[in-house]
Amino acid sequence: MLVAAREMTRRRDAERRLGHAAMHDPLTGLANRVLVRERAEWMLGTRGRGVAVLLLDLDRFKLVNDSYGHGLGDELLVLAAQRAERLSPRGGTVGRLGGDEFVIVVPDTSRARTEELARAVVEAFDEPFVLHDEEFTVGCSLGVVHSGDRAQNWDELLRLADVAMYRAKAAGGACFRWFEEGLGDTARQRLQLAADLRRAAGSDELGVAYQPEVDLRTGQAIAVEALMRWSTPTRGNVPPCEFIPVAEETGLIVGLGRWIMHDAVVAVAEHNRRTSSDVRMWVNVSARQLTGPDVAAGIVELLRELDVPTRWLGIEVTESVLADDERVLPTLVALRDAGIGVAVDDFGTGYSSFARLRDYPVTLLKIDRAFVQGLADPSPEAAERAAHIVRAVVAVGRALGADVVAEGVEDVELLRHVRTLGCDLAQGYVFGRPGTLAGAMSADGHAGQASGHEAPAGVR
Ligand code: C2E
Ligand code: MG
Ligand code: MG
Repeated sequence: MLVAAREMTRRRDAERRLGHAAMHDPLTGLANRVLVRERAEWMLGTRGRGVAVLLLDLDRFKLVNDSYGHGLGDELLVLAAQRAERLSPRGGTVGRLGGDEFVIVVPDTSRARTEELARAVVEAFDEPFVLHDEEFTVGCSLGVVHSGDRAQNWDELLRLADVAMYRAKAAGGACFRWFEEGLGDTARQRLQLAADLRRAAGSDELGVAYQPEVDLRTGQAIAVEALMRWSTPTRGNVPPCEFIPVAEETGLIVGLGRWIMHDAVVAVAEHNRRTSSDVRMWVNVSARQLTGPDVAAGIVELLRELDVPTRWLGIEVTESVLADDERVLPTLVALRDAGIGVAVDDFGTGYSSFARLRDYPVTLLKIDRAFVQGLADPSPEAAERAAHIVRAVVAVGRALGADVVAEGVEDVELLRHVRTLGCDLAQGYVFGRPGTLAGAMSADGHAGQASGHEAPAGVR
């Protein structure tokens, strides 16, 4: 009997341990997502003044983690967890939702008390953490929501807290924000998009599609453009024209830009080495990515670390980037001098003055697809005007010593046309939709053949 009893105790302990492991975060010992949900749902089901949710995200954790290593990062998370637990009132639950994101859920509490708590949390996280005799001040952003705010179930509460936390981040961090009932629908949608995008960063929701640029003299794909793609289970494919502006507005573009440049450069280097080619990868870059300190040096350093020659990279900027910010010019000059390509994207749609253009270190002009597609306008006068514009841009390109590429070339007819008008390169659906790098690189002057169309005459 004694043996049987011991056996039972042991099994019970093992089960308890297992249950504990399934419900807790192994690093910090806090409740995990599953347990937080279970407890929160229980709290929501009981009567009282309502449930408060404080969603907490460390502001500079990534910086510490990247510069001091994951070991120290982990230690910091453990301290952060302890701090959050000390702050949580009796009856509250503290959980780790993943990464550097924590949540405090408090039952039966008022808005006033919640606000007090939020303030205390922000203050407490403004105090440095001491690790190995060094001080680390990371700070935190808090999104705060109360179950009286409209949301009734846990998922909805967490979503609203996320939007609120996002507002705290956007306000510069080290602060809390309530979810705001009165936020207009569009503002809400944008914030939600930004919150989702922030979450998607670093996940496989984000990807890169490649589109070739074909040399019209040889018919060879000699360059390729990297285009960001975002697809989520709930939103489907979100077009760049929707999410890039949000990323720019919120500063997320800086991290995303770094990521796509890294991946695109690694991909093209692998391709070039494997096939002994000399293809250049063009990456779109926003103003915000170019105005920081030492941007050019950072890019050159990245290439050096990856052992990639500078001629395999080019950056594309729009005219507005050139026009808006004086600080961009020295960066572009440094990039060009280092051997990196500099393209003016969507040329003709912005406000470059010729005087300005002369100062810019442009190696490639990309004629906006509106002009290119204007060549096929049913009205002969409109088509003729478009042809004049394309010819003029080609002349500008010549004067600047830059190549000229026609964007948005959708069919063989247009391809023939832009070639006649003197464009050096063409890019567009005629060579296939943006896709894998291998697919992009197999495109050549035989555009249209694969889909059974006539091969473009005179391209080779
Ligand atoms: P863009 O740099 O001018 O890129 C060309 C856009 O035209 C791409 O749209 C491409 O898919 C589309 N396109 C290519 N060929 C054709 C064609 O024959 N016909 C038509 N109708 N369209 C064609 P996408 O991928 O939707 O990107 C839109 C814009 O988003 C880009 O315009 C670029 O400004 C921006 N973008 C994309 N990826 C990034 C990125 O990684 N960073 C930044 N900062 N911006 C990006
Ligand atoms: Mg582009
Ligand atoms: Mg373009």
